[in-house]
Amino acid sequence: MKKTNPKKQPAIQYTIVPRDLAGHLFDVTVTVALPSPDGQVFALPAWIPGSYMIREFARNIIRIRAESHGKPVALAKVDKHSWRAAPVDGPLTVSYEVYAWDLSVRAAHLDQTHGFFNGTSVYLRVLGQEHMAHQVDIQRPHDPAAKSWRVATSLPELGAKRYGFGTYIAADYDDLIDHPVEMGDFALATFKAHGVPHDIVITGRVPNLDMARLQADLKAICETQIAFFEPKSKKAPMDRYVFLTLAVGDGYGGLEHRASTALICARADLPVANTPKRLGAADGYLKFLGLCSHEYFHTWNVKRIKPAAFAPYDLQAETYTPLLWLFEGFTSYYDDLMLVRAGLVTEEAYLKLQAKTVASVLRGSGRTKQSVADSSFDAWSKYYRQDENAPNAIVSYYTKGSLVALMFDLTIRAKTSGKKTLDDVMLALWQRFGRDFYAAEARGVTEAEVEALFDEISGLKLKPLFDRYVRGTDDLPLAKLYAPFGVKLADERKVAKPSLDVATGRDGADCKLTQVHEGGAAHRAGLSAGDVLAALDRVRVAGNPSNLDSLLGRYSVGDTVKVHAFRRDELMTFNVKLMGDRVPGIALEVTGSDKKLKRPSA
Ligand code: ZN
Repeated sequence: MKKTNPKKQPAIQYTIVPRDLAGHLFDVTVTVALPSPDGQVFALPAWIPGSYMIREFARNIIRIRAESHGKPVALAKVDKHSWRAAPVDGPLTVSYEVYAWDLSVRAAHLDQTHGFFNGTSVYLRVLGQEHMAHQVDIQRPHDPAAKSWRVATSLPELGAKRYGFGTYIAADYDDLIDHPVEMGDFALATFKAHGVPHDIVITGRVPNLDMARLQADLKAICETQIAFFEPKSKKAPMDRYVFLTLAVGDGYGGLEHRASTALICARADLPVANTPKRLGAADGYLKFLGLCSHEYFHTWNVKRIKPAAFAPYDLQAETYTPLLWLFEGFTSYYDDLMLVRAGLVTEEAYLKLQAKTVASVLRGSGRTKQSVADSSFDAWSKYYRQDENAPNAIVSYYTKGSLVALMFDLTIRAKTSGKKTLDDVMLALWQRFGRDFYAAEARGVTEAEVEALFDEISGLKLKPLFDRYVRGTDDLPLAKLYAPFGVKLADERKVAKPSLDVATGRDGADCKLTQVHEGGAAHRAGLSAGDVLAALDRVRVAGNPSNLDSLLGRYSVGDTVKVHAFRRDELMTFNVKLMGDRVPGIALEVTGSDKKLKRPSA
């Protein structure tokens, strides 16, 4: 992080007032000491880094006006994100109201229970002055509901005390928008990981939360990752780190930042006092730790080692990179691996998680049509905007990307007799492109550089693997790759179960097809996503998810059943020949071990 001299008056000053909690409104002002003589342009980002979709945050600006020396200044709309003020001499202030009612990690949310915002939702960018220091005064709401609220953010304090309302400072605009802010009556715990203070902030009612366990487990994860990237110095890349967590009834997601992460999780996934210590692959708490591990790994991989297209980000338009398989896929590979290395899960549970990923990749025929490089590039219009046909059309750069990482890891380990691993490649990426990212005029890494680095560090010629599995759509030969490591990839399912090969959802009291997999039994019989199942051989199909399975359980593969279904409001009849479920129950079993070849998780 760049150091800013706090005594120097920053040119760009913001105030944030959470004014109307019930109406979900923040009042924001930005003051520019030396506006552009041609008329200062202001713009709100169209997207937030880490979430690759155009969101047009400026649509939540309700009222906006400008003034200088106490007099109104004309403000003209340039496009849906931007305004231009008439030329003025001296300081220019723009005041606006932001509607904040998006309960996600990507935008802003305000009510009587808490306030949360990302900078991309509230701070207008002052075009041409992004490199200046930016200062923000975050004010306490006047609402009595907020009288004991505190503030949690990784943004460095200027006038504010830690966890207090007041002024905070950022080195530049890119820094300013990379520290989300939470305010409320949250639970808070602090620990040190290799000397660096880490906060865990939990907003939302969570009875009997086992904060001590959370603290101990996160410390283990963070120290493992810091030591992974800096094995000698164990130096973390940030001065402090904040896990901002919102606990809700049902939710899951996270967004990475340079010194914090914003998380949303199900209350049930947080540890209760006296939860069993041993974590199984299906435990919600393991899922939460995996999420924390994932976002924390991004502190290095994507927040500092970055694709060239993101250095700097173009915040007004889609920013294309074919490398998300490396930044999201490899992060997905290492998130669970770090849990094993931190001693929080057994290798057995880890392999169960991995088997689930293998099965999920094999389920969609989209994997034969789209490569992970193309999926990365088209994230904006495809992965982030999935429709009912997604499994037949696209592949996930997260799940297949994590298996690509596994493929490279096992290949490098096997072909170098264990002398090199994927870890060495990650370290080289870090040392050459990440470590000094914010200290120097750093740049991102290109596809060609990534590929050359893999060859250089491993001493192998890996182009054929990039051709087939990164730029191509071949299935990863995991059984063959795992064999020398004493791991058997097996079909754990004894008998194929009869299946329609669909995904379903509840539609009131009915069962609706949400996805129909290409080539499956339902597709062949003419059923479509959106059809509402009425009956199977004249027995009603109910909405609860297990009902269809239990009805199908009375048949065998090869049987034909009569399906009545509503398409829109018209009843249709289909003769469905049941097929075996497409994806075998994948299991990864340790059958032995090789002295020379160490498994990534061993
Ligand atoms: Zn991620």
